[in-house]
Amino acid sequence: MRIGRSTGVSHPGRKRRRNEDSWVCDPPIFAVADGMGGAKGGEIASRLAASALGSAADGSAEERVVALVQEANRRVYERSAEDASASGMGTTITLALVEDDIVTFGHVGDSRAYLIREETIEQLTDDHSLVAELVRSGKLSPEEAEIHPQRSVITRALGTDPDVDVDTFSIESQVGDFFLICSDGLTSMIDDDVIREVVARKRDDLNAAARALVEKANRSGGEDNITVVCFEIAEESADVPADTAQLPVLDQNGAGDDEDTLSGLESVPTVDTMVVPPAEAQAAAAQPRKRSRWLTLLGVLLVVLVLLFAAAGLYWALYL
Ligand code: MN
Repeated sequence: MRIGRSTGVSHPGRKRRRNEDSWVCDPPIFAVADGMGGAKGGEIASRLAASALGSAADGSAEERVVALVQEANRRVYERSAEDASASGMGTTITLALVEDDIVTFGHVGDSRAYLIREETIEQLTDDHSLVAELVRSGKLSPEEAEIHPQRSVITRALGTDPDVDVDTFSIESQVGDFFLICSDGLTSMIDDDVIREVVARKRDDLNAAARALVEKANRSGGEDNITVVCFEIAEESADVPADTAQLPVLDQNGAGDDEDTLSGLESVPTVDTMVVPPAEAQAAAAQPRKRSRWLTLLGVLLVVLVLLFAAAGLYWALYL
């Protein structure tokens, strides 16, 4: 087995002027980084991280993946400390390293990796986001998470601390496996099942599949930058078709029928990504919910009191 076709594409979406996502499609390394931070901070952070993923040191695949992510973290953190205009910037990273039939992942933040195998799609990474943590701890339903006002708050990122906690895991791949790495601009706009359907429909042409995913996210709102990197696992003897070439990052008007990019949409508020430590974020998110629960209770109590008085009044009028 070996790496088959691969491609990557990125689009700013319909509501943001900048594209703060960066991506790598450089077999055997594939990655997506989604930057955040004021001014140009987000772009700088994601580019610094992506450019750190070149050469891996020694060790097992997981050790090398962690070393690459730590190096990326160090570069973003140091630049952020040196450059006042980039202070506070950060980035997510989701990285895959393919060796023989093993795909090893390193992951920090809320970009995602998926595996489409035959008819099923599986999310391989856990989001390091406030809402994902609340869902995992049972405090929020997946439906509530989708519309939660703090859904862009992530709890782990590169560049905010000298060291970063990296999730790593390995997948034993099969011929025909389709791996997808993407930024939250894709997954906040379309469901996993839609991703699976689009890929199934366009599977003959990987570039078309990647573009179709971006287009689908734009049609569903395009609220954030959208980045898709995908690769296949092929038969050892298979030829890698010519459409493996990397696509350039699309410009603002590069997405065919999305000429209406930004027109009339500038006034729509977008939620900016920010990093908050898990404990603080959970406390902040829990407060408004608690308060509204108290308000509901108070309301119910008032209604009960009013009813009691009414009943007492009626009783008094009728029988006394
Ligand atoms: Mn994003």
